[in-house]
Parts: sequence; C-alpha cells; structure tokens
Amino acid sequence: MALTPRLRKRIYRANQAVPMARLMMRLGYRVTGADAEQQFACDLHGKDSKPSARLYPRTNSTYCWACHKSRRPVDLIQEHEHLSLEASVSLLEEMFDLPSIPLVEEYVEIEIQEGPTLDDEIYRAERLLLTLTQERTLTQERTLWAWERFDRVLTLAEREELTPEAAQAVLGSLRERLLDDVRGTQAGHSP
Ligand SMILES: [Zn+2]
Repeated sequence: MALTPRLRKRIYRANQAVPMARLMMRLGYRVTGADAEQQFACDLHGKDSKPSARLYPRTNSTYCWACHKSRRPVDLIQEHEHLSLEASVSLLEEMFDLPSIPLVEEYVEIEIQEGPTLDDEIYRAERLLLTLTQERTLTQERTLWAWERFDRVLTLAEREELTPEAAQAVLGSLRERLLDDVRGTQAGHSP
C-alpha cells in the first residue's frame, strides 16, 4: 500500500510522541512507566510464560525474541488491536491527544494568500523545515543550520530586536534558500 505523505508524517510523529511504556501500560502489559529497559511477556506470538520481549525506552521500541520482531508504538497497537495502519495511527492520536497534522491543502491556501503576516511566514518556514527534517532531504548539517537560523529569527523577533517585517523577510529568504538546496539536491549536486 502506498502511503500518502501526510500518513507517513502521522506515523512518524506517533512513533516519536507516544511513549512506548505508557502505551504498553494502557494496553495491559506488565511494564513500569520508569525510563528503564525491562523484560516483558509478549502476547503477540501466543502464550509467553517466560517473558521473551524487551522494552527499550531509549529507542521507544520493543524487541521480541520469539516473534523475531522489533516494534514501535504504531506496530504494537496495530498488531495488538488488529487494526489497519491508518486506524492504528488515529487511535494513538486520540489516546495521547496528539494535535492534527495540517493537510497539504491548508499549506497551499496560505501560500496563495495575499499579504502574508509574520505568523504565516513562520508557519510556512516551519512546515518546510519539518518536511525536510522528516524526509531527510538535506544533509544533517544543513538541516541543523536552518533550524538554528529559524530559532534565532524567532528569538530576535520576540525580543523586538527585529521588526515583524524584517523577521518575515529573513524567513522568506531562508525558505527560498532551502528550496534552492532542494532543487540542487534533486538535480544531483548536493550543497
Ligand atoms: Zn512475541
């Protein structure tokens, strides 16, 4: 099944944002919420009287030696509840109160609006940065550079060391530079 970019973002976000230990406790697994590795009985391969699986809080995942399988929150709830991928993500979003990820259409709408405000520009730059980060379009170094620059502009605008117009212009040119990088990457010359 081909995933839409939005569903891919939702899966990625749920796997990051839902703490595995808390999810497992809510599903009835005998684990503690403590941030420590622990062995547990896996119910996904049949009876498991000698706990075969281990929870790894550091990577927010589990591994079961009987299933030979590593699982992240979306995998776990999908197998545990016998749901489709999309229904699994929706359930996690509901259980853990995750805000809805904007539709691409909303992004396009803001794009064509006339006279965007600083808030619009922040939103556009942030959406672009999130997409580039999640899809690893640019080098890690370049991505970090862009986030630092983005944060810096926001801080300066907040402290009123930059006018809203100036902050907007800087974010606009940051976005242009990143889009140029993306075009460069697609043309085969990495920045
Ligand atoms: Zn198992």
